[in-house]
Amino acid sequence: MENQYTVFILSGPSGVGKTTVWDEIRSKHVDRVERIVTTTTRAPRPGEVHGTHYYFLSKGEFESKIVAGEMIEYALVHGNYYGSSSEELERIVSHGKNPVYIVDPQGMAHLRPELMRRGYRVSTVFLMPPSIDELKSRLRGRGTEDDDSLNIRLANAMVEMEEKDFYDYQIVNDALENAVAKVGAVMFARS
Ligand code: ADP
Repeated sequence: MENQYTVFILSGPSGVGKTTVWDEIRSKHVDRVERIVTTTTRAPRPGEVHGTHYYFLSKGEFESKIVAGEMIEYALVHGNYYGSSSEELERIVSHGKNPVYIVDPQGMAHLRPELMRRGYRVSTVFLMPPSIDELKSRLRGRGTEDDDSLNIRLANAMVEMEEKDFYDYQIVNDALENAVAKVGAVMFARS
């Protein structure tokens, strides 16, 4: 029951540049790929829009979807559910586009087998930093971390890097346009 769409999973350590690379790809290929919007039970922050940043559901609504088998994968983080629904996947495919997941490496482990079980082709990319020092300076430059969380992210990154061989492609995010071209080649080679 394989269908004609490929689901892309773009992963890699926090701060490696997943969002940055994706923004470039999306702006060039908006008709061919679309990012999966995560569903969550956490409260919206100011400015967050339902359907754009997240789908915001109540805990009861989310749990009904779990029971109905409508969540492809989910996790409970600090008391809030986060996950992706089969409805979201089908919405993107119904527009004739290939769905893209941007997830941390822990997310990938559950996602790939579950997508394959549902008949999707899956193609996985691990984005790597040129070096740990460069990762550190990107995290610092982004200005979103205090020293403790920066050190935790770097320690996680060292462990996550060991998983790179489980991915179909390993791409170093050195100069942004090189990385964008390589990730684009993976996504658009077949069609
Ligand atoms: P992620 O989504 O993987 O956590 P981001 O896309 O937020 O990472 O990028 C982290 C920081 O690194 C951002 O400040 C971004 O501008 C910077 N960055 C991303 N790609 C590159 C690159 N190729 N060269 C230099 N800086 C980059």
